Amino acid sequence: MAEVLVYVDHADGAVRKPTLELLTLARRIGEPVAVHLGAGADTAAVTLAEHGAVKVLAADAPEFTEYLVAPKVDALQAAYEAVSPAAVLLPSSAEGKEIGARLAVRIGSGIITDAVDLEAGDEGPVATQSVFAASFTTKSRVTTGTPVITVKPNSAAPEAAPAAGTVEQLDVTVADSSKGTKIVSRTPRESTGRPELTEAAIVVSGGRGVNGAENFPVIEALADSLGAAVGASRAAVDAGWYPHTNQVGQTGKSVSPQLYIAAGISGAIQHRAGMQTSKTIVAINKDAEAPIFELVDYGVVGDLFHVVPALTEEVKIRKG
Ligand SMILES: Cc1cc2nc3c(=O)[nH]c(=O)nc-3n(C[C@H](O)[C@H](O)[C@H](O)COP(=O)(O)OP(=O)(O)OC[C@H]3O[C@@H](n4cnc5c(N)ncnc54)[C@H](O)[C@@H]3O)c2cc1C
Repeated sequence: MAEVLVYVDHADGAVRKPTLELLTLARRIGEPVAVHLGAGADTAAVTLAEHGAVKVLAADAPEFTEYLVAPKVDALQAAYEAVSPAAVLLPSSAEGKEIGARLAVRIGSGIITDAVDLEAGDEGPVATQSVFAASFTTKSRVTTGTPVITVKPNSAAPEAAPAAGTVEQLDVTVADSSKGTKIVSRTPRESTGRPELTEAAIVVSGGRGVNGAENFPVIEALADSLGAAVGASRAAVDAGWYPHTNQVGQTGKSVSPQLYIAAGISGAIQHRAGMQTSKTIVAINKDAEAPIFELVDYGVVGDLFHVVPALTEEVKIRKG
């Protein structure tokens, strides 16, 4: 069976969930071979094997952390040349998309970004994308070279499928041309303890209806009761009520969680563009005519300052 390279997103060997989703999708088109760059390959290999990686190609080099993405592209290219895979899958993060695009250029292949599903096809893997602010769903396949495909988080439920996960050392030579941009400092973001917005299975977002930064704890409390990430509309962000990093939409982050709860958000097309592929959408809005109600699975017409705290309490009670 053809091998499929899966680029591993991890923090010192702790594999992030989108990679496990990629392994699940990779098994539909071949045998997953994970590419792990940086420290912690042996730790990561356990999780990767549990989710179907037949092999883990591992490389560690100081250049991976000293420079921007180009040395990692060198490594992924080395893996590509060693394996001759049927496809290369990466998570649709900013870094994943940049690495994927650079690899595609180097190997003369087509690339599909932001896929939300993947299936085997007679002439190669077929990717589903949600385009034009989620107004259309398209299916496409790469017609030139080895398909390089980036997949959005939450596009598949990770499934356990134990495999060997044998760790093999990958020889990587970092080219001088890949050392063009050096990282000069790093400032870790303050942790909120909440999941990463683009990876979270549940997102609770607040909009202009939240009416002030001082009221956002109402949204945060619901998010925390559900173990969710917090999002915000651009109106809330522009007003300075919540950080820009939490903006959902066309000019913010694109999220595709299992559950998206929008409170005090009208549902402008630019907001929808970033959340319309969510599996279940719930809106709380006091205006029954708000456009957000056109796309919801469940809608609550009411004041968010009554509905959201009541919902938070109910979630807490049910979770015991
Ligand atoms: C180029 C461009 C890019 C953009 N990019 C983005 C983007 O990335 N993300 C984004 O979100 N927007 C984006 N916008 C802005 C977008 O057009 C809207 O202006 C914005 O989404 C509106 O935010 P909102 O829904 O929070 O506010 P509003 O449209 O003002 O809606 C507030 C809603 O809250 C409800 N409400 C008020 N009080 C309560 C209450 N107590 N309880 C319940 N409901 C209440 C109201 O009924 C209303 O429906 C962009 C615009 C442009 C032009």
